[in-house]
Amino acid sequence: MVHVRLCWLTQSHTHSHSVYRWSRKVYNAHYMSLGYPSNVEFTLQGLNYQNKLVARGPKRLAGRYHQLKTGHCRTRQYLKWTKNSDTAECGWCLYRTQTREHLFKNCDRWRMQQKIMWAEIRKKTGRGKNRFTIRGMFADKRCTGAVLDFLRTTRVGARTGPPDPGGEREEGDTQSP
Ligand SMILES: [Zn+2]
Repeated sequence: MVHVRLCWLTQSHTHSHSVYRWSRKVYNAHYMSLGYPSNVEFTLQGLNYQNKLVARGPKRLAGRYHQLKTGHCRTRQYLKWTKNSDTAECGWCLYRTQTREHLFKNCDRWRMQQKIMWAEIRKKTGRGKNRFTIRGMFADKRCTGAVLDFLRTTRVGARTGPPDPGGEREEGDTQSP
């Protein structure tokens, strides 16, 4: 029985099932070419706890979490880069560049939620917001619960600013200030 650790996959792949199927194919081919039997068994360490926690939330929340984690997310900076927005400015506080860093650490609109999240992260890790990059925060399993709570109580990753009065209303947008 060959056990293959797949931790390295968690960095960029978030859909564990498709990763698992894909990995099986790749590794089976690889090990068969080396003369191993094809019934390679995988242990999905690293994917387990974090993904279980994320999967427990509603689908939309999990989607926001994964998008923010990978950086393919609804920030104005990203939307401008993908030419889906004319400006990188934060729609909530008008700061010049709305990045993940801005939303999780500095945006005035979500000040209270940031405080709660970073206090929780400090409790879990002993490190405060100045000692975490956003990438590091997402990579640390101990932060996952606090980040999900932050997303649950904000519209970060669901939109980039306040709703346009009379404009399109996003499905499931029930958050009030
Ligand atoms: Zn802002």
